[in-house]
Amino acid sequence: MPVPVSQMWTVASYVLRQKVAGRKQYPLVLMLEPLFRCNLACAGCGKIQYPAHILKKDLTPEECFRAVDECGAPVVSIPGGEPLMHPQIDQIVAGLVARKKYIYLCTNALLLKEKIHLFAPSKYLTFSVHLDGQREEHDLAVCREGGYDIAVDAIKEALRRGFRVTTNTTLFDGANPKSVRAFFDDMMELGIEGMMLSPGYSYDKAPDQKHFLGRARTRRMFRAILSNRKKNWRFNLSPLFSEFLMGKRTFACTPWGMPTYNVFGWQKPCYLLQDGYAETFAELLSTTNWSNYGTESGNPACANCMVHSGYEASAVNATFSSLGGFLATVKATLFTGYRDAEALRLLEEPQAPVHPLVQIAPTSESSLQETQA
Ligand code: SF4
Repeated sequence: MPVPVSQMWTVASYVLRQKVAGRKQYPLVLMLEPLFRCNLACAGCGKIQYPAHILKKDLTPEECFRAVDECGAPVVSIPGGEPLMHPQIDQIVAGLVARKKYIYLCTNALLLKEKIHLFAPSKYLTFSVHLDGQREEHDLAVCREGGYDIAVDAIKEALRRGFRVTTNTTLFDGANPKSVRAFFDDMMELGIEGMMLSPGYSYDKAPDQKHFLGRARTRRMFRAILSNRKKNWRFNLSPLFSEFLMGKRTFACTPWGMPTYNVFGWQKPCYLLQDGYAETFAELLSTTNWSNYGTESGNPACANCMVHSGYEASAVNATFSSLGGFLATVKATLFTGYRDAEALRLLEEPQAPVHPLVQIAPTSESSLQETQA
């Protein structure tokens, strides 16, 4: 079971309460960024490109608690930056555990062994370790030789101490599906709880703008990777979001489902784009022109996006919106093999050289073709 029953029940009952209350826009996971500083400089991440005076800033624990209380989401993901570099991260985590929030502390794990004594195992706390594939792929993605081995060592220590541990993996153009599947085997052997996946996405500040995936290639890659699954693979993805990545379903983006709060305030409209900030969550909801966003909006910045912060909440909402959605989720949970001969053939395809064609940012004919494919 990739997620404890208590967590599933908390999320399910929360969503049902929103439905009964008739709320159309509700948050599911708060993306809480308490700082932008990091001890890595990954090519696909734009967070550390901020000027020094911004990188020095930290959200205080009180600011974090205010955002969490105001938002009300049952799950809080803490990315960054590297949250373990925050001087009061232990106080932030303790405060959220006291509020019975399910926390995913997203870390590259370089500091995890050194700081693990600051935390106590809890069903509310999960270390979500950033690993972008097997040793060679991960070290290349994070531009740090030895990063994989340090992270795996820290995972072992966290598991030994009784913590919940998952992985989060971002897949960019050129990822080798066979190697990704071997990575799944490695992680299951380590004993982690579940694996979270997302396609690479564009930050306009990220140094490497060439290797973000277009929609057609995203679906093709995830079809190859996630079909014909091994029985022991456990994913930390909602089942319908997994099918969305594989091209079996379409959803509209619901960016309010995973709102972002950071040192600037509530980010409009989502984790990826920065079209201004609001001081309160209520202001974010009421002053953002949501129709400008999502693939169907025609906004070129959204054309190729399939990331979890836009679409996983849509998938969860679909589960609870109709009997069909609920039954589809049950089926996807119980019968997860996804036998697919074409996907097996895709695994045998020679790897094409990394292709710089698709970028999410500016409008281009190629990007729109990708979107429509
Ligand atoms: S489609 Fe992607 S980039 Fe656009 S609003 Fe949704 S999550 Fe943000």
